[in-house]
Order: sequence, then C-alpha cells, then structure tokens
Amino acid sequence: MTIRTRIAPSPTGDPHVGTAYIALFNQCFARLHGGQFILRIEDTDRQRSTPASEQAILDSLKWLGLNWDEGPDVGGAFGPYRQSERGAVYEQHAQLLLEKSHAFHCFCSSERLDTLRAEQMAAQTPVGYDGHCLNLTQSEVSAQIAADIPHVVRMKVPREGVCVINDLLRDPIEIEWSQVDMQVLLKADGMPTYHLANVVDDHLMQITHVIRGEEWISSAPKHKLLYEYFGWEMPQLCHLPLLRNPDKSKLSKRKNPTSILYYQRMGFLPEALLNYLGRMGWSMPDEREKFTLDEMVAVFDLKRVSLGGPIFDLEKLRWLNGTWIRENFSPEQLADRLHEWAFNRDYLLKILPLAQVRIETLSDFAPLTAFFVSGMLPLNADSFKSTGFEDEVLLQVLQFTLWRLEAQQDWQRDAIFAQLKDIAGAMQIKIKDFFAPLFIAIAGTQSSVSVIDAMSVLGPDMCRARLRHALDTLGGVGKKRMKAFEKNYQALSEATPESE
Ligand code: GLU
Repeated sequence: MTIRTRIAPSPTGDPHVGTAYIALFNQCFARLHGGQFILRIEDTDRQRSTPASEQAILDSLKWLGLNWDEGPDVGGAFGPYRQSERGAVYEQHAQLLLEKSHAFHCFCSSERLDTLRAEQMAAQTPVGYDGHCLNLTQSEVSAQIAADIPHVVRMKVPREGVCVINDLLRDPIEIEWSQVDMQVLLKADGMPTYHLANVVDDHLMQITHVIRGEEWISSAPKHKLLYEYFGWEMPQLCHLPLLRNPDKSKLSKRKNPTSILYYQRMGFLPEALLNYLGRMGWSMPDEREKFTLDEMVAVFDLKRVSLGGPIFDLEKLRWLNGTWIRENFSPEQLADRLHEWAFNRDYLLKILPLAQVRIETLSDFAPLTAFFVSGMLPLNADSFKSTGFEDEVLLQVLQFTLWRLEAQQDWQRDAIFAQLKDIAGAMQIKIKDFFAPLFIAIAGTQSSVSVIDAMSVLGPDMCRARLRHALDTLGGVGKKRMKAFEKNYQALSEATPESE
C-alpha cells in the first residue's frame, strides 16, 4: 500500500502556523514511507474563501520549504484539488446516500431551527436536529421540492449506542451517537459541507492516513458513519495536539501572532520556524533541538508525538532562530537572506511611494522607514505623552482599535480607514487626534508616512502585535478595566457612528 497523506486548508484568512505544523507532520510521514503528500483546498465556504488567501497559503508553505506531490498548483492524477471545482462529485455522492436511505431531505426553515435550538439550550438538552423531516414520505418530499421550498440534505445518525473511534495516538475514543448531530451534507445552495466533501475527497484521492488537529476529533463519528454508508474503508486517523499559547489556551490571534506572514515580516528564517514546528509535541530520538527537515524525515515516527499541548513560545523560537543565524550562515549567505527578506525591490517599492514625498536626501529614507523593517518598537509610557490624551482614553483608543482590527478580514487601506473612522466617530474623537497614538504604536513616532498605508503594508498580525505591545508599554488594561472597556466597546459598536 502506498502511503498518501494530505493537508486540506480552507482559504479563509491569513496562512496559519497551525496549518504549517500539520502540513509538516503529514509531509514527514509520507516521505518517510516513500508515499505521497497532497495539498487540497477546501473552499466550500464560498462567502469566506478567497483566491488571495489560497495563494498566501501556498506561498507561505513553500517559503517554509514544504512541498507536495499533488495540489491545485502542481496538478496530479486525482484532481481537481480545489473543492469548489468538484461540486458534481459531491452532489452525486449525496444522491447515492439519499437512494440508500442513509440521508434525507430537510425542509425546516432557519426560524424553526433557531427556535428548536433556543428550546434545547433552555432545557439544557444536547443541541441538534430533532428529526422533524426524517420520516417524510417520498410524495411529500417530491411535492415540497416541486414547490421550490429551500432544503438541505442531512445524514441519518443512530440515536442509540456508542461510536468507537480509533486514533493512532490514543486509546479508542468512545462517543455516544446521541451526542452526534444529523449533520447537513448538502447546503440549500447545493454546496457540500466540510464533512461530505472531506470524506468523499479523502476516499477518491486514496488518502491512507488523515493526520490533522485534535479539534476535528468530534467530527470523526460523522465521518466514520459516512465511510460505512458508502461502503468504503476509512483512512487511519491521527489527531495531533493543538498548538497553545504560553498560558495553555489554544493558540489564537487574540493573544499571539498566528499568521506565517507575521513570522516572515519579523525576519524569522523559514528553516528555524519549520524546525520549531517540528518540536511541537515531537522530539528527535536524541532530543536535539536544532534539526533540518531532512533530518526530521529520516527518523520520523508518529509514535513520538506526545499529547500534552505543545506551547508555541515566541521567546524559544527567537532563541532557535538566533542559533540558526549564528551557526548556519556565512555573512554572504546572510546578506542574501536579508536581501530576500526585506531589502528587495518589491518591498522597497511598497514603501517608497509613501516615503518619496517626505525625503530630501536618500539618507533620510532609513530613519523614516526603519519601522517597516523592525519588530517590536522601543516605546515607553512617555512616548504617548504628546498625544495629550488622558490614560483612560489613550488605552481605549488602542484597545478598541485592536478589537476592531481583530475582526477585520479585508486589509486594504480603505477598509482599515473605514473601520478606524467608524470608532473615532463613535468615540467622538477627531480622526486626526485618534490617529496620533496609532502612529506611535505602529510607526514609533507621531509623524511619519501615512499610518493607514503603513498598516496595510505591515499586515494584520504585525499591526495587532504592535498595538498589544503599546498597551503593555502603558501598563496594560487590567481585568476590571477590561470589563468596563468591553461594555463601552459593545455600546459604541451598536450606536450608529456620527461620522458616517
Ligand atoms: N478544511 C479543514 C481545515 O480547515 C480540514 C480538516 C481536516 O484535515 O480534515 O482545517
């Protein structure tokens, strides 16, 4: 049997370090066994998926030194490798389940489902579909379809008994069927849900091992049942532990930068970042900390994964990166890396149009734009004195901006500007005054190139990290104050901004 593994990212945001971590383990396992590693794009969420996000995922995984044998960019015998191009396949398979009576049409309105959910929550019973449309007759179904009533296709799920999931890293996991929802397989717009598309594709692409994050364990019973319904053999499952913040919570962009683009912009070396990801829940047999991808592949063993949540610690990563810089590069090689990193034409051409109007000699360029090639800026509480804001307002401006930007997907300058104008208006602060502390947090000084343009070039994670750093510099917000801020922020977000 040829081992085939895959990574199946959804292109709905910035490329996540967690995706790279899972990709790394999948690639190592496939390579060790002389098998194939596949990249499949799971873009069935048409609202949230974007081609730009897909491109960023492919680019950053390649930047890290990962490579796949089949994928949307390299092709392969089992394509297409983008789920949005495989609609007919899923529809066919949903049809098959309907014919075998393993699935059923459901015509329940979203109002009915909302009420049901509210009732279940109030009664503290498990939330899930109640089987309302489970026993419709064929003629009732046909009549509703003929009348154009919107509908979905759901899978049948036993109401009794226990599902046992085998995982390469765990004892058998038992989940009661009564806890498993009658999952929607085809949505009202005809698009498949993750569950249907994922199972169908893993089978058709002959995936032998599904190595993914442990947040997917709860989906495994539905998948197992679908394999049974189709009469297919299920791949071996292996759920890797989730990456965690130093406080043990799940790694999230609210606490730590999660985008690979941030680590790139910070000047981490791809070798070092990949090396560090290889240390997440895994170790070399000789426990050495520094190793290359090839060295990892040579001795890879999934059994060496430990399940205690691995901590993604920026300080450790910095240390490891430093050892790579000192030990693995000649000055010539490092010069090439610096050039590749930020001192290249592309990046200069992003910054120069902003700087050109403000410099008189070329030597003015570096001091004006140093913050584009810096990590965290050297700030102290006095840095913000010139804004004239009281501490309380200052903290609110920074914190509210941070919250607003955490929810921001579109990172074009106009979109960022609209968000900031909106909060400034709601706080009744003149936009110019509102920007003053942001200038300091993002650029380190109160006057620089346009802060909005700078934010757009620096990218979301770097901007959020600098805002967090500014808040820390000012002594942080504190628990009690944070509660009050949350309330204010909520009220502001609900009020119609006056500046609109
Ligand atoms: N599309 C899922 C994701 O975004 C894939 C999960 C899986 O590997 O099954 O992570």
